Amino acid sequence: MSAADEAGRPVVFRNGLVLTMDDAHTVLDGGDVLVIGDRIAQVGHHLAAPEGALEVDASGGIVMPGMVDTHRHLWQTAMRGYGADWTLTQYFVWYYLEWGKIFRPEDIHAGNLLGAVEALDAGVTTTVDWSHGLRSVDHADAAVDALEAVPGRWVLAYGNIQDGPWNWSTAPEFRDFYRRRIDGKGDRLGFQMAFDVTGDPAFPEQPAFEVARDLDVAVTTHSGVWGATGDDSIRLIHDHGFANDRTIYVHATTLGADSYHRIAASGGSVSVSTESEQNAGQGYPPTWVLRKHGIEVSLSMDTSVWWSGDLFSAMRTTLSADRSREHLEAHTKAETVTHHALRAEQVVHWATRGGARALGMDHLVGSLEAGKKADVVLVKNDASPVMYPLLNPYGHVVFQAQRADVHTVVVDGRVVKSQGRLTDPGQLAAAKAAVGSTVDFLRESLGDEAWRAGMNPEVPETKLLDNPYQYTDFATGSTHGQG
Ligand SMILES: [Zn+2]
Repeated sequence: MSAADEAGRPVVFRNGLVLTMDDAHTVLDGGDVLVIGDRIAQVGHHLAAPEGALEVDASGGIVMPGMVDTHRHLWQTAMRGYGADWTLTQYFVWYYLEWGKIFRPEDIHAGNLLGAVEALDAGVTTTVDWSHGLRSVDHADAAVDALEAVPGRWVLAYGNIQDGPWNWSTAPEFRDFYRRRIDGKGDRLGFQMAFDVTGDPAFPEQPAFEVARDLDVAVTTHSGVWGATGDDSIRLIHDHGFANDRTIYVHATTLGADSYHRIAASGGSVSVSTESEQNAGQGYPPTWVLRKHGIEVSLSMDTSVWWSGDLFSAMRTTLSADRSREHLEAHTKAETVTHHALRAEQVVHWATRGGARALGMDHLVGSLEAGKKADVVLVKNDASPVMYPLLNPYGHVVFQAQRADVHTVVVDGRVVKSQGRLTDPGQLAAAKAAVGSTVDFLRESLGDEAWRAGMNPEVPETKLLDNPYQYTDFATGSTHGQG
């Protein structure tokens, strides 16, 4: 163990560009952030630090709150990148119908471990583990074992795609699990219930919502997903009285105005996974319409089977998708957008405060303010030309910085990344070894053919459009007809 990760040692960040993300979005040039114990003690200039404090030179860098990812299927990290060319349909077939049911508790553990380490490395200090591969309580225990082993802040969103939520949520072992592993464990391990509402008019999900109400925990649900969960889902949740200000609607695209009104009126928030929505096909990334309805937004990366757990990507793609839509909507009316409505500052807010608010953790994390839990990120990379000059801090975070620029990460007052390196490299090695075993197991279980077919879905045949012009062969100077 290096000096840097001694738990309990005070830490002071010196002379950085500090994005506090407090209510006024105060920015301090040449600012300090002092951490004592698990809390932020002070934010200001030239702070006095206790003797023995770890001094972190933040000059040339940006100090910001740890980022918050409100929807991540950590267990799928074991299959990192495998589904890069999938559509949502192919994802459903692979995980829901064919192979999700062969994942063992140790496979959930392996994926969670690597995904959790990955989150910390990227400066994501709070992650909702949208854990819908929990087909037994043993799987759930394995998920939590991994989360507890990695010094981040986690919210286990308990789910099981292999069974109806009315079944698993009402089983005595589910409540027993909650009491054993979650209840009273403090603010580093929160809990939600994760299930989707199909739109069946009989509303079979009602008992699961009742369990959530009884346990006083939030529900997170994939909604507004093209071809899967639409306006009927939102209407049923709302009409039955289960829409509240803790409900998180994941994606929430492809919905009508009535659904957005219901979400807004009940104070719910939306977890936007722009890279996912753009690739998988849930619908157009919805921030452009959520803003018009005054619905709160948080950001998420969904799953490493396609993308990575990197909120810089989430911020960048979300800002770009929102602006792209605004331009296109204007062009259909022969108008020109001359001023952007959505700013980089707002997207940084969504990645920090937005997530904290969605999770009911705004009093704990999401900003750098005295008294809050010390989840702090320093973005600094003196070796990178991209970190200079540092003129527009929010724009820099969104469009310039990358995960490799994450220099220091503190969670709950503890340094987990320092000088661009995880302070516990052994944990990464262990996570890689565990995932290696899982990959071996899965590859063997699927067999070569299914393994390859899963990773390389067929490309549909495309027909070239007829071209009324003559093709020119530039090499010979001759022209020839089509075909
Ligand atoms: Zn998801």
